[in-house]
Amino acid sequence: MAAGVPVLTVHRATHEIGGNCIEIAIDQHRLVLDAGSRLDAGGATATGPAVPPTLDLVAPVDAVVISHPHQDHYGLLRDLPPHWPVWSGEAAQILMRMTAALRGDRLEQEFQTYRAGSAFTAGPFTIVPCLTDHSAFDAYMLLVECAGRRILYSGDFRRTGRKAVLVSKMMSSSPTPLDVLLLEGTTLGRTEGFPTEAELENEFAALCRRTSGRVFITWSAQNIDRTVTIYRACKRTGRTLVLDLYSLDILERLSRLHDSLPRLGWPQILGVVTASMKRLYESPSRLNTPDFVERCAKSGHAIGAAKLTGRKDVVVMLRPSLLRDFECKGLTFEQGDAWIFSMWAGYLATDEYSEMRRIADNAGAAFAQIHTSGHASGADLEEFASRLAPRHLVPIHSLVWDDHLERFSNVRRLADGEPFAVV
Ligand SMILES: [Zn+2]
Ligand SMILES: [Zn+2]
Repeated sequence: MAAGVPVLTVHRATHEIGGNCIEIAIDQHRLVLDAGSRLDAGGATATGPAVPPTLDLVAPVDAVVISHPHQDHYGLLRDLPPHWPVWSGEAAQILMRMTAALRGDRLEQEFQTYRAGSAFTAGPFTIVPCLTDHSAFDAYMLLVECAGRRILYSGDFRRTGRKAVLVSKMMSSSPTPLDVLLLEGTTLGRTEGFPTEAELENEFAALCRRTSGRVFITWSAQNIDRTVTIYRACKRTGRTLVLDLYSLDILERLSRLHDSLPRLGWPQILGVVTASMKRLYESPSRLNTPDFVERCAKSGHAIGAAKLTGRKDVVVMLRPSLLRDFECKGLTFEQGDAWIFSMWAGYLATDEYSEMRRIADNAGAAFAQIHTSGHASGADLEEFASRLAPRHLVPIHSLVWDDHLERFSNVRRLADGEPFAVV
């Protein structure tokens, strides 16, 4: 390769959703954007070789920059050299380390944290993290400049969340000229529009109003947009939101950085202390903060699962492990209750959620799915690409890009591991 010319290599994710690992190299310097684990068809972390075969683990890197705290963007870190320097958002680091602790795992690398809109350098690379809208909290697009070239990596993004305005802002003040746009295309194959979080809030509120009993909701504790949406629906309908220890812990830690986030102590929020969560917090090899359990239990805002049997005015967070603990205390679905599934529909097919559905149906509880995608619609991706007008558009993070290439201009279709000199 010619000296002084950046070479872009997508080690993985040109033909799949997730497992993102992108490298920009110039002379003896290397920058890695995301280090994700592969996802299987069910959305779980896939088994098989973790490290892409073309990623050199021996040569030094100037930085590994993580776009957002989803496993398909950072799960590969545990297989990378522990001395490689990693950068992420500050809240993102908290979430990644909490996920690792929950599983009895830990991330060995030292992290440095970047701030939205503040450029930082690593060797000859200047990186500008641009906060964006996604189902993961603290998610960024990453603009990289080196040797007079500009490369924008979209990460994962959408225009239906509570930060949608940031995507519009990126389109109206896009970096020009843009040499390369690495664009995610997760939901390119879907033709329907996606509801916004604000529309979901209305749906949750309507369901809360028409349900005579308890409303149980299953969602990801790390999907902070969704927690806010559900809390707002509770406020509108006079219900109390009952969160488990893990969700409360996440909100407490993130609210030290973002004061606007709801948390224990706010009106209409209660914490429920359950046996399995208590064990995870007390275990030295897991979350290892027994004093947090103690503090929640004595906060004056905690409720026992047994006490919830007598309450109809609540929205209760639910996962299979919580349901097992609740059942031991006599709390389960009843006629008049509702169970709302607020995650990707594909997870409903797993054994544990099929079983939960069976239990809810048998009890005569109503069932609903209220959810929106974490990714941009095809129309939004087209608009984004045409407004940014890159010299080269490199498709990533989708199974269906090849069926939609004609909708985009200047496409440079790469294979995994194929070097592309950005001359
Ligand atoms: Zn992703
Ligand atoms: Zn993501």
